[in-house]
Amino acid sequence: MAKKKETKTFLKIEKTAELDNTETAELKSSSEESIEETTIAQRLLSLYNLQQLWSKIDKIRVIRGELPNEVRDLEDALEGMQTRITNYNEDIQTLKNDILGEEHKMKDSETLIKRYEEQQSNVRNNREYESLTKEIEYQKLEIQVAEKRKGKFLAEIETKKSEIVICEEKLKEIDDVLQQKKSELSDIISDTEKEEKELLKKIGEYKSKVNERLLTAFERIRKNARNGLAVVQIDRDACGGCFSTIPPQKQLDIRLHKKIIVCEACGRIFVDRQLIESQNADKQDVTS
Ligand SMILES: [Zn+2]
Repeated sequence: MAKKKETKTFLKIEKTAELDNTETAELKSSSEESIEETTIAQRLLSLYNLQQLWSKIDKIRVIRGELPNEVRDLEDALEGMQTRITNYNEDIQTLKNDILGEEHKMKDSETLIKRYEEQQSNVRNNREYESLTKEIEYQKLEIQVAEKRKGKFLAEIETKKSEIVICEEKLKEIDDVLQQKKSELSDIISDTEKEEKELLKKIGEYKSKVNERLLTAFERIRKNARNGLAVVQIDRDACGGCFSTIPPQKQLDIRLHKKIIVCEACGRIFVDRQLIESQNADKQDVTS
């Protein structure tokens, strides 16, 4: 309880310092050892606000990043469907050629039959006649086989044709979704670009409140952190970035914010929860 009161008073002092002694604070920032507590609190808050803004931008970029993937997936699906249709059409062409082949065979057999029948009228004995009859029967059988095959090929063509109809329906469905996603994508891109521009403008304002060295450190940590978080709070005695346990003494130092304290495990900068809460409370006071 007593500690909380302490922070509050402390923050009031900090506020006046911000108004009256901005120049002094800036001067003092160049010699790291003599930085006033108030300046540290201000900087931590600015860093925290920078972090919030960057996190918003990160989220926007993720949303913008996912939609192109969806569009690409749909384009792939569309291409796959087109390939299937092309393959079916090629199959149909092959089957048509096969049918022509069977028809050729039938014609050949018919020609042979005709020839054998002519020969039968000129035979010299029964044995020759019988032999020609057998040839004719064989050719008739060949015709039957070819006829059967032709029928099978024709049926296959019909199957392929109905497959093509199904594929074309699916193709249309995919294309409809694709066109819709594409227009969504362009909307989202223009919307988020506008939002991002505004956030970047605010980031520029906060940047000027943090000294160069701290800003460089912040940007380096952010770049290396997988979740883009460079400024974190203590959550259940652990670092909010890497979840390593933070010793009580260090937690106390963080609450006092007399210096910039980073996580030994991940290098992220700690900001005190109470400090943020009092900033948010101040903001509400201003708006109400
Ligand atoms: Zn950490």
